[in-house]
Amino acid sequence: MHNKSNYKYLLSDLSILKGVGTKTTNLLKKKKINNIFDLLWKLPKSYTDRSLSSKIKDLRVGENQTLTIVPKKYLFPRVRNLPNKVLCSDETGEIDCVFFNSYEGYIRKILPLNKEVTISGKIKRYKNKYQLTNPKYISEDSSLIKKSHNTYSLTDGISEKVYNKIITQIINKLPILNEWHSKHILKKFDNISWNDSIKELHKSENIGEYKKNFYQRLAYDEIFSTFLVNSEIRKKIKKIKKKNKIINIKRQLNLINNLDFTLTKDQLKTVDEINNDLSSSNKMFRLLQGDVGSGKTIVSLISAFNTINSGFQVALMAPTEILARQHFNLAKKIFPKNLNLELISGKSKYKDKKKSLENLLSHKIDIIFGTHALFQKKIFFKKLGLIIIDEQHKFGVNQRKKLSDKGGDDCDVLLMTATPIPRTLTMTMYGDMDLSIIREKPKARKVIKTYSKLENKIEDIIKFIKKEIDLNNQIFWVCPLIDESKKLNHSSAVKKFEFLNKLFPNQVSLLHGKTTPDEKEFILDNFLKNKFKILVSTTIIEVGIDFPNATVIIIENANKFGLSQLHQLRGRVGRGNKDSTCILMFKSNLSENAKKRINILKNSNDGFIISEKDMKIRGFGDILGFKQSGIKNFKLADPVHNIDLFLLAENEIKRIENLNEDISKYKPLIKLYDRADIINDIA
Ligand code: ADP
Ligand code: MG
Repeated sequence: MHNKSNYKYLLSDLSILKGVGTKTTNLLKKKKINNIFDLLWKLPKSYTDRSLSSKIKDLRVGENQTLTIVPKKYLFPRVRNLPNKVLCSDETGEIDCVFFNSYEGYIRKILPLNKEVTISGKIKRYKNKYQLTNPKYISEDSSLIKKSHNTYSLTDGISEKVYNKIITQIINKLPILNEWHSKHILKKFDNISWNDSIKELHKSENIGEYKKNFYQRLAYDEIFSTFLVNSEIRKKIKKIKKKNKIINIKRQLNLINNLDFTLTKDQLKTVDEINNDLSSSNKMFRLLQGDVGSGKTIVSLISAFNTINSGFQVALMAPTEILARQHFNLAKKIFPKNLNLELISGKSKYKDKKKSLENLLSHKIDIIFGTHALFQKKIFFKKLGLIIIDEQHKFGVNQRKKLSDKGGDDCDVLLMTATPIPRTLTMTMYGDMDLSIIREKPKARKVIKTYSKLENKIEDIIKFIKKEIDLNNQIFWVCPLIDESKKLNHSSAVKKFEFLNKLFPNQVSLLHGKTTPDEKEFILDNFLKNKFKILVSTTIIEVGIDFPNATVIIIENANKFGLSQLHQLRGRVGRGNKDSTCILMFKSNLSENAKKRINILKNSNDGFIISEKDMKIRGFGDILGFKQSGIKNFKLADPVHNIDLFLLAENEIKRIENLNEDISKYKPLIKLYDRADIINDIA
C-alpha cells in the first residue's frame, strides 16, 4: 500500500506497475523514463473516440467503430497460414472477426460463444460482408472499450494499449500532495491542485490546451522549482564569509589609463560590480556575460589586478592553451613589470612545472594562466583570492558549485561566457550566480558584412578569396560534420582542403576531429602568425581567440547551425582593424522561414537580439546549439510562450528571499522535479 499523500510513490521504480515487466521497463529507460514521475510527462498526442456504438446495419466502411456483438460460430481453418475467423452478429446483421497469426485458445477466450462482447476497430467489407481484422479492442466489459483511447508517440515495442493501461493505472493511484504554493500564486491558476492538474493533463479533450490553468500551473511548477534551487545555491554561497579585498583605485586607474583604448561604459560598470563583490565580506559567485568581442578579457584582468594588489593570488583558466597564452600575453603587456605571471601548459617541461607549483605555494607567483584542467589538477596556492574561468558555458550548475567550493572560502569566482541567450534562459541556466552583462560593444568595431551564397556559386567566392589573400588577409573555411552523430565524419572538410590546396598551394591547413590537441595548437599558432592563409575546419574554431588578421569566414551548409552559433562563428573575424566578411553557403534556395532567420543575422550584430529573435521563430529547443550544456530540459514550460510564468517565478523567489521564508514546504516539489541532488541538505 502506498501512502496517498506521499510523493515518494512517484519516485518508485516502474516495475511496481501492473503489466510492466523488465522488457517494458528497459524500453522506457532507453527513453530516460526511469520512474513513475517521468511517465507523467508522456502525454497523449491524439485520441480515438470509441465511446459511441453502432448497429451492424449502420456500419460505415473504413472508419473506426465500436459495436456490441455476440460470437456465433468459430471458423478455424484446417490449413496453416489461413486466418482464424469468428462469425458474430447483433439483431441487425452479421460481421466476421478475422485473426491472423492467432491461437484458437486465445480466440475462444476473448470471444466466447453466445456472450455479449464489445469490440472496436476499423470496419472493412470483404466478399459482401462486414469484417474486422485483428481487432485490438475487445472486452465483455463495455466500459473498457466505450471511451476515448489516447494515442502516444510510441516507443518501439510499447503499444498504445500498454501506454493507456499504465498511465490510467498511475492516474488512478496519484497521491494527493500537500500544496506547496502560496495562496496568491495558486489563485493565478484558479486554485487547481497539482494532482488535479496531472489528471487534466492526461485527458483526451485537453490535448494541446497550453493556456488552460492545469497546464500553466504545471509549467510554473517546473520553472519555479528550477529557480528555487538556483536561489538556494546562491544564498548558500553568499553566506560564506571571506576576507574582503581592498581595491586600490589609484592603481586601477593607472592601469586603465595606460591601455591603448578607452573602456566602454558597460566595461566600467561591470568592473565596478566586480569590485563591490571583491571588497565585500561575502564570497563572489558572478557570471560576466557579453557577446563575442565585447571585451570581457580586460574586465577580468582588471579584477585580477585588483585582487593581486590586495595581496592575493589569481588563477585564470581558458578552454584551450592558445587562449590561455593569449590572455597571459595581454596581461604581460598591461600589468606592471614587478608582478609575477606564469603560464602552465601541457608542453611545459616537468622541471619547469614543478618549479611553478613550488612558486605558487610560496606565493612567488601572483597570477597563473592555464587551461580548465588547472582546476582538476592538484595545485596548491598560498593565498588564492580569485578564480577566473573564461568561456565556461559547458559547465552545468553542479560543476560550477564544485568550482566555487574548490578555491576555499576566501576565493572569489568569476565566470565568463560569450553565449548571449534570452533572459528567460539566463534566469534558468545561471540563476545560481550574480550576473554582470556587457551589452555595448567597443565603438571602434569594424563591420562584418554577411552574405548568403548558393553552393554552385563557389567560383565567385574563390575570386573573392584571391583578392583578400592578395591583401595579405586570412580566411576561415568551416565545413560542418555531415552527420553529427559520427564525430569522425570529416570527409567534406578533407575534400575542401584538397580542392583549395590545389588553387592555393601551401596556403591551406586543415583541422578536424582527428587532429590531436598538439597538432591543433601548432596549426592555430601558425595561423595566428600568418604562416598560411586559409584554415579549413570541421569543428568550431576555438571561441575567444583573437585572430586580428582574419577577415573572412565562409560557413558551408550554414543551415546546419543555429543562428547563435553562426553569430559566434562570425565573431571569429572582425577582431582587427579591417572590415570583414562572413559568407553563408547553402545547398539550395532558402525556405521563407530560413530567409527570415538569416536576415536577422544579416541585420544585427548583437548576439542577445539574435538569440531572442531566433528563439521566437524556432522555439527554444535547440537555440543553444549545444544540447549537452547541462541545462535541464523543461517538460512543459517554454521560455518563449511562458515568459509571464518565468517572471512570476522570479518575483516569487525574490519575495521568498526577502522575507527569508522557510522553504521546507517545497521539499516534494524539489525532490520530484529532480534537481535536489544539488541541495540535498535542504530537502
Ligand atoms: P570577448 O568578450 O569576446 O572575450 P575580448 O576580451 O577578447 O572579447 O576582446 C576582443 C578585442 O577587443 C580584443 O582585441 C580587445 O583588446 C579589444 N577591446 C576590448 N575592449 C575594448 C575597448 N573598450 N575598445 C576597443 N577595443 C577593445
Ligand atoms: Mg573571450
